Amino acid sequence: MTTAAIRTVHFRPRERNVFFHLLTGCNLACRHCYINSEQHGRQMVDRQTMAAWLRLFAAPDRETNLILLGGEPTLHPDLAYGVKTARNLGYSTVTIDTNGYLFHDILEKISPEEAVLSFSLDGPTPEVNDPLRGAGVFAVCTANLKKAVARGFTVSLICTVSRLNLAHLAKMVPLLAELGVSRFFIQVIGLRGKSATPGNELQVSFAEWLKVVPEVAANAARLGIHTIFPKVFLDAGESFACAGRVAENYFIFPNGRVYRCPLCEDFPVHSLEIKDGLLVERPGLTEERLFQLEIPEGCVMNRLLQPGNLDYDATGKPLHRVSCCLLKQEARPG
Ligand code: SF4
Ligand code: SF4
Repeated sequence: MTTAAIRTVHFRPRERNVFFHLLTGCNLACRHCYINSEQHGRQMVDRQTMAAWLRLFAAPDRETNLILLGGEPTLHPDLAYGVKTARNLGYSTVTIDTNGYLFHDILEKISPEEAVLSFSLDGPTPEVNDPLRGAGVFAVCTANLKKAVARGFTVSLICTVSRLNLAHLAKMVPLLAELGVSRFFIQVIGLRGKSATPGNELQVSFAEWLKVVPEVAANAARLGIHTIFPKVFLDAGESFACAGRVAENYFIFPNGRVYRCPLCEDFPVHSLEIKDGLLVERPGLTEERLFQLEIPEGCVMNRLLQPGNLDYDATGKPLHRVSCCLLKQEARPG
């Protein structure tokens, strides 16, 4: 048996991550969907715009990872064109985040060398997954995932953990090993999009998370699956860093908004926008100003959006500091 140690994956200053939402439309209606059409519109970028924006964010002299997402990106008829264009522009890696439906025969149109496929699945059985993602989704997603593995694609899987599936997370591990998944991303449900709706209380507590997630990650690594999950709370000696200040991440939406922090996406506080084909900074109160604030609780956006996650001692000092939502931990196969 291999061993797995959990370690924090610190931000790498030279690395760039470009999250390009090609459209906001989707064939599913997941219970925790984070897409917010009021903020990001209902459009799809056209082929020319896709190529122009890929050029705008390309930096072949730097390690630049591209993640194509939506809505459901395989609904876009020019997705394969986007993948090939990105490769020609020198993006280091290209990943397609899909709900598993693989529309427009995408497996026939790209090769395993061109992109990694990342499937979303929120439970080890239809009984757990389908109430969250839709009737019949488990069967379609796992069948297409198998097809992708059989064709030689590197496949990863994202599971969004909430109160409704935490107890079933451990059972995902043997399933992923059987399916041939290489990387497992465990995501904590955020207060964005539908999850922010009052009465939709899906978040797990810190104690519940700590009890389950690190052990599941270690078990997955023992079966040869590289597993990544959010840090959430910092340990006593660890320093806080806001990715908006020390890392280079871009979250691009089809209406031209560009955010540097995913927690800001429900608000019109994006620091950048694409105007007349150029990336321009926005004046006024944007997320950029929030990144500069230093507070004892750690992440400013968490303090504003999710104060219920914080506990204080009798003197008013926070008991834990919340890390940047983009800071990850990993368990690698030993
Ligand atoms: S697959 Fe993604 S975009 Fe589509 S409804 Fe589910 S969470 Fe939203
Ligand atoms: S999640 Fe918090 S710490 Fe991370 S980029 Fe956003 S504001 Fe900064």
